[in-house]
Amino acid sequence: MTTTKTLLLLPGDGIGPEVMAQAKRVLDWVQARSEARFEVIEDLVGGAAIDAHGVPVTDATVAKAIAADAVLFGSVGGPKWDSVPFEIRPEAGLLRLRKDLAVFANLRPAKVFDALAEASSLKPELVRGLDIMIVRELIGGIYFGEPRGIETLPDGSQRGVNTEVYTTAEIQRVGRVAFDLARKRQKRVCSVEKANVMESGLLWRQVMTGLQKAEYPDVQLTHMYADNCAMQLAKNPKQFDVIVTGNLFGDILSDLTAMLTGSLGMLPSATLGALKADGSRPAFYEPIHGSAPDIAGKGVANPLAQILSLALLLRYSFDMEAAAASIEAAVERVLAKAGRTPDIAEPGRAQISTTQMGDAVLAELAAT
Ligand code: NAD
Repeated sequence: MTTTKTLLLLPGDGIGPEVMAQAKRVLDWVQARSEARFEVIEDLVGGAAIDAHGVPVTDATVAKAIAADAVLFGSVGGPKWDSVPFEIRPEAGLLRLRKDLAVFANLRPAKVFDALAEASSLKPELVRGLDIMIVRELIGGIYFGEPRGIETLPDGSQRGVNTEVYTTAEIQRVGRVAFDLARKRQKRVCSVEKANVMESGLLWRQVMTGLQKAEYPDVQLTHMYADNCAMQLAKNPKQFDVIVTGNLFGDILSDLTAMLTGSLGMLPSATLGALKADGSRPAFYEPIHGSAPDIAGKGVANPLAQILSLALLLRYSFDMEAAAASIEAAVERVLAKAGRTPDIAEPGRAQISTTQMGDAVLAELAAT
């Protein structure tokens, strides 16, 4: 690849800048090793943007995100901004970026690195080798459906209302993302809803079935009710390849799956928009953890989720599978032999800092 790609880095607050600094070192390694050329821009978001500009993300930053080929985000928020007005809280910057980029498919890979199988809340034999992908619809469903609100009834009591709503087009676009991913994996998609009790779930099931028949006959499609899926994830998570589901069930099932892997500091995510005519798509990459104010500034945050988010970016936005796989393999080797940051440390083993974890990943990459 010789064309120049634009990459916007938004480190944010708390541990965001600390872990982003390590991802940048890995990015430098990628640039030095390949013909890839990135134009890397950096900007403020969250509390840092509130301090500088009075808003959690400026129009100029949103314009840069839309123009970029991909966005690598850190994390936002912290006690310093807890009392700012709700509309300009740090998280509002993140929500606006997702909305304006029109990214709708949230990809949460849950991969258990061999060396961390003991850190899971499940028995190691149930999670060793686990590699599943949850695709969650992110900008529809009950979190956005109308009508919504709290109303006062004639008798003076109140009623809270939210509406689960999905259209054929919304289901198809997230379904295509799941089927396309499955084609690069084990070619199995499990579609999750509650078709037994919800009409929106019935439509979801019908649309997924039609999409598979019409466009993805080579991918196996199964259906599962969301409650059973939660049970199966705790009982035998390795049965799954790609899970696709709506916003609400995806929120819950992806957090459950995150715990199977043992640590928040290890988990990357990607959120993708619609495929454009030139083959590109808007894309936003971020670790699933927050700004961890309790450890910010101490130099002990685990940078691996941020580094693995960069690997996803290289794979899905820049089609650089070899570089992505090298980074993931380097992380696997680091976990097996180097020291660990305190969040994933084992008793009796050396604890290392954020920068030393970055050093260890770069040393492994240099050896490839
Ligand atoms: P959190 O993810 O920041 O932290 C939860 C716990 O996990 C803390 O004990 C923290 O120290 C630990 N942790 C998280 N990431 C870690 C890492 N990389 N290495 C080592 N330990 C790590 O969640 P929280 O405490 O609920 O929220 C803190 C702040 O972050 C809040 O302001 C919240 O709104 C914000 N937040 C932001 C995002 C985001 O930017 N996407 C996501 C979640 C929370």
